[in-house]
Amino acid sequence: RLSMAKSKFEYVRDFEADDTCLPNCWIVVRLDGRNFHRFSEQHEFKKPNDDRALHLMTKCAQTVMQELEDIAIAYGQSDEYSFVFKKKSRWFKRRASKFMTHVVSQFASSYVFYWKDYFKDQQLLYPPGFDGRIVLYPSNQNLKDYLSWRQADCHINNLYNTVFWMLVQRSGLTPVQAQDRLQGTLAGDKNEILFSEFNINYNNEPLMYRKGTVLIWQKINEVMTKKIKLPKETEEKEVEVTRTRTKVVPLHCDIIGDQFWEEYPEILAE
Ligand code: ATP
Ligand code: ATP
Ligand code: MG
Ligand code: MG
Ligand code: MG
Ligand code: MG
Repeated sequence: RLSMAKSKFEYVRDFEADDTCLPNCWIVVRLDGRNFHRFSEQHEFKKPNDDRALHLMTKCAQTVMQELEDIAIAYGQSDEYSFVFKKKSRWFKRRASKFMTHVVSQFASSYVFYWKDYFKDQQLLYPPGFDGRIVLYPSNQNLKDYLSWRQADCHINNLYNTVFWMLVQRSGLTPVQAQDRLQGTLAGDKNEILFSEFNINYNNEPLMYRKGTVLIWQKINEVMTKKIKLPKETEEKEVEVTRTRTKVVPLHCDIIGDQFWEEYPEILAE
């Protein structure tokens, strides 16, 4: 075949940069929706948290974990998701561009593919895009701190957005007025506004909004009934068989404290 033969053009391949990820490091790919401020408005997302959008993001992330190799854990909030590849992964010889592009394109195509399952009558008006970046973390502590950073970001933004949209939707403030009202307020002040003006205890807001979504692999024992035919019998018999499958499971728990990592030590073990 012509394509197999070396041509005089072959030398151009040497212009490709080596982007092999450092061995033994956790490889994190984070993606983020492009201009989702506008996208969420145009598609009438419920503010501050649209469940359809959050569940669609998680469906796409589950698809990425199932389709691609070696992802140990993922964490998502708002229009972003982070995927952590095992530190020993040899996938695509650890080439950064392969990791990043496969994650982002698989996610983006899934977002369009599964859109109608979550948004029903709400038409997709234009093709959404996602950016991606890759960061290497050399220690388990660095990785835990990275994930803590994203979850802390989720908390800070969600507390702000929850008060902001209450002021707009319930008190009739304009977005500029709501922004001015919240200028310089601390977390305690925001909790107080929610409680005294809107009778909302922030701690009772849904965990998915406050903590984001953690995706991990879990062993699931599935009990199935199987029809088998024994050699000497003519009738088929139903027997119960237990299969162990690994499934991607969403959790909305704290990952900043030690408890999560003590409960799931296998995530950091390999
Ligand atoms: P960029 O292209 O720089 O990422 P952006 O507009 O996407 O710009 P982000 O900082 O990523 O900015 O913020 C994402 C925005 O998308 C949020 O501010 C919020 O308005 C909106 N958004 C994302 N997910 C949801 C959701 N589930 N419900 C409501 N709004 C959402
Ligand atoms: P990889 O994931 O490594 O890229 P691949 O199967 O995509 O694996 P490629 O070298 O990219 O391997 O080759 C793409 C293959 O897709 C071709 O070998 C061919 O079989 C098929 N293909 C792509 N475009 C067409 C097309 N227009 N018509 C028929 N076959 C096509
Ligand atoms: Mg961004
Ligand atoms: Mg964005
Ligand atoms: Mg974002
Ligand atoms: Mg190909």
